Amino acid sequence: MKKVLIVGTGLAALTAALRLVKRGYQVEMVEKFHQPGGRLNQLKKDGFTFDTGPTFFSMTYEFDEFFKDAGLEKMPFTFKELDPLYSVNFRGSQRSYLIYKDLDRLAKEFEGIEPDFKRKMEKFLTSAGSFFHDTENLVLKRNYDNIFQYLFTLMRVPYKHSPRLLRTVWNEMERHFDSREVKEIFSLVAFFLGATPFDTPAIYTLLSYTELVHDGYHNVYGGMYKIVEGLNKELYKAGVKIHYNTEIVDYKAGKSSLKHFTDQHGNNREADIFVVNSDAAFFRNKVFKRKKFSDSRMEKMKWTLAPLTLYLGVDRKVENLHLHNYFLGDNFKEYSGKIFKNSISLERPYYYVNAVSKADPESAPEGCESLFVLCPVPDRRYRPDWPDKEEVADNIIRDLSERIDFDLQKHLVSKTVWTPVEWENAFNLYKGSGLSLAHDLNQIGGFRPKNYDEEFKNVFYTGSSTLPGTGLPMAVISSRLIVERISRSYGPLHQ
Ligand SMILES: Cc1cc2nc3c(=O)[nH]c(=O)nc-3n(C[C@H](O)[C@H](O)[C@H](O)COP(=O)(O)OP(=O)(O)OC[C@H]3O[C@@H](n4cnc5c(N)ncnc54)[C@H](O)[C@@H]3O)c2cc1C
Repeated sequence: MKKVLIVGTGLAALTAALRLVKRGYQVEMVEKFHQPGGRLNQLKKDGFTFDTGPTFFSMTYEFDEFFKDAGLEKMPFTFKELDPLYSVNFRGSQRSYLIYKDLDRLAKEFEGIEPDFKRKMEKFLTSAGSFFHDTENLVLKRNYDNIFQYLFTLMRVPYKHSPRLLRTVWNEMERHFDSREVKEIFSLVAFFLGATPFDTPAIYTLLSYTELVHDGYHNVYGGMYKIVEGLNKELYKAGVKIHYNTEIVDYKAGKSSLKHFTDQHGNNREADIFVVNSDAAFFRNKVFKRKKFSDSRMEKMKWTLAPLTLYLGVDRKVENLHLHNYFLGDNFKEYSGKIFKNSISLERPYYYVNAVSKADPESAPEGCESLFVLCPVPDRRYRPDWPDKEEVADNIIRDLSERIDFDLQKHLVSKTVWTPVEWENAFNLYKGSGLSLAHDLNQIGGFRPKNYDEEFKNVFYTGSSTLPGTGLPMAVISSRLIVERISRSYGPLHQ
């Protein structure tokens, strides 16, 4: 029986482990943090329960594919489709726009704002949908053995889509819509990728199609961490051992294969095959010390925005908040242009609020509310430390209080703030970057760090900074791609 050691317990690792167990591999896992899940984690405090990161996702059918592939009898958690998807409020305005999948209801939200909204939106979505379907299976969900294979694959994408490569998400918005509100709201998909619409290639408008037409957005009954709890239970049943508070810091290798990893306590962790779920670029820099991933090269790569997250317990119900809410300012273009490099004040930031207890009342004591706030901020290359983190958190709490007409400060009974420093330290995220390597054209597909090692033939990578990219469904696809590679090299031992 071949033994696989997996470094990390993020979603890509948990799903890879179960796929491998099904194929007859013996799996063991090591994790730096004290519990599984990586960014998809959980914080319990003062009687409140918070999901630490992801709050919703698309492409649920990737989870269905995974359950079938891993031979699990029953999905250990249940999806809940969002409707409306989210709300958006602009500073200075009392109203919130509700984003519905139903185009007639959605068009009503923009009456008097965007003339002929439905026709324009249909045209926009048809175009985004055609790109999605022409690339999903052909380009996104597959392995590349070399750059030529990737470029050759791109050549098979219908030529009509090529102008998208030259435009940004914002350019695409300008081609289809006129009002500031519609352009800003539907370009938020770029922020879901940890970037801004002004520097994100127009190919990612396909996300508007996935949210509004295709599979929509979903969360999970009982909170997002139910995903991790469910998978962890299956791993336990399968006899997979997980060692927590165990960080891989060193290694020993032969000529072309890895012999063992070494953890921070000096224990050697041996296996036949190694799967790294730690960031595929950062691990090559920090542990393997590869030239191609030297400190100076890492600095030059494009990374996604970092998270500043607040976990707030409130001693009563908060009106005027939906389940998922975006609070935008009145200087979208200026803010987007400056936020990456820390050249704008965080006195009045843009942020997102998930009032999780509105969907899952058990996440807060009776009559109370648990709120999660995510504010995208510069990574630690541009803002290394956060001595003012309480001040920035208070700015957000004050701004939110004004906008929902509720004195949050007065009713707060629990408050936790994680800056990019906490995120980096907890999960080894490069400079605290929240969604890993950015998705610029020169950092995706065949240009992204490979999911197999350049030197050691028994080392593979799975997760956000390798193929195909960031987000929960991508993590699930990533585990499929790696298991495909391992099976190709070592064979399914049994099915
Ligand atoms: C604030 C925030 C909000 C998000 N919201 C969404 C959302 O709404 N929807 C969505 O789809 N996606 C969202 N994402 C993205 C999503 O969380 C990630 O894409 C996904 O969870 C990444 O999973 P992963 O398996 O790649 O890696 P990770 O979750 O990063 O897991 C890697 C694991 O490896 C461990 N590790 C690292 N180095 C070592 C080492 N040397 N030794 C041992 N262990 C190590 C880490 O501790 C970690 O547990 C969000 C991310 C953040 C940060």
